[in-house]
Amino acid sequence: MQLYRLGDVGPAVADVQTTLRGLGLLVAMPAEPVFDAATDKAVREFQQRRGLSVDGLVGPETYRALAAARWKLGDRILTPATRPYVGDDVAALQERLLELGFDTGRADGVFGPRTEQALRGLQREYGLVPDGTCGPATLRALRQLGRHVTGGRPQVMREAEALHRSGAALPGKIVVIDPGHGGTDRGATGHGLEEAAIVEDLAARLEGRLTAVGVRALLTRGPDTRPSDAERATFANVAGADLVLSLHVDRASSPRPHGVACYHFGAGRGTTSTIGELLASLVQREVIARTDLLDCRIHEKTWEMLRLTRMPALRLELGHLSHPGDAARLADPSFRDTVAEAILVAVQRLYLPPDLDPPTGVMRLPVFT
Ligand SMILES: [Zn+2]
Repeated sequence: MQLYRLGDVGPAVADVQTTLRGLGLLVAMPAEPVFDAATDKAVREFQQRRGLSVDGLVGPETYRALAAARWKLGDRILTPATRPYVGDDVAALQERLLELGFDTGRADGVFGPRTEQALRGLQREYGLVPDGTCGPATLRALRQLGRHVTGGRPQVMREAEALHRSGAALPGKIVVIDPGHGGTDRGATGHGLEEAAIVEDLAARLEGRLTAVGVRALLTRGPDTRPSDAERATFANVAGADLVLSLHVDRASSPRPHGVACYHFGAGRGTTSTIGELLASLVQREVIARTDLLDCRIHEKTWEMLRLTRMPALRLELGHLSHPGDAARLADPSFRDTVAEAILVAVQRLYLPPDLDPPTGVMRLPVFT
């Protein structure tokens, strides 16, 4: 789709403005459908609230999030469909089901088979017709049911349990490595470097290391493919991956920002992926301990690669190509090797029981194979 930004005109802009107005982010509709300063501010505010990249641009991801935001629970009947219902109403239903102890998986806002199954579970338990359809009777029941979950959030416990069950041994685990860019998509550029070349090289180093310790490492893309983020998430889901590692390098419009950051799924509404957060914090800490990159910390995001994947997923933004110091580091193969080692150690530490978990920055692999 086309990208909409400050200064653009047309019916799609009016569409965006109507949604922003409905969300209370735009005070008044402009006389002409012009993407004006107020619209730009409202888009940024929306992106900030939704855990999207805050750039004021309406690209595919922001556009889809705006479309999803039009739906509140109860606006329409939600029912299993070949093309699943998508929207904030679905996410609200999923969050409600999760609170009540029915496992929908991640609250991704997509009414898929797992959500249907969880809904049927609720309907059976509360004496409703178990048709997997969220209509008036189910909505009434949902309103009447108090928040009766005690002793922690069930989804958090479920994730931790799955992690524990899978054991500490790496052999047999499946890790999907996602070089964020490649082929004709070169990603960010700066100081004579291209993000695609760096993340492809880092992916290859990581793939080699993971394979050496018995992990099945799968790449989301070859040199000639250009899958969308949603397609990459599906690839990881179909592969039944244990983890997803999405590799990127950042850039800024100014040469000043520098450092490394990790992102995990979370919408700031209590639906964060706890294991994803743990994975992000381990990778962040190991990279910081083994390099001299600035610590830009870990953050919650709702990017499709993090939201639509069903396993803990991480996005690494390794330095800024717009910063001379970061660029010089990224250009050095031994630096990229150190980072690959740091990620491998973080992956191993994720699975180690707390009593075996070593201090940050000292572990060497292979050790626990
Ligand atoms: Zn990137």
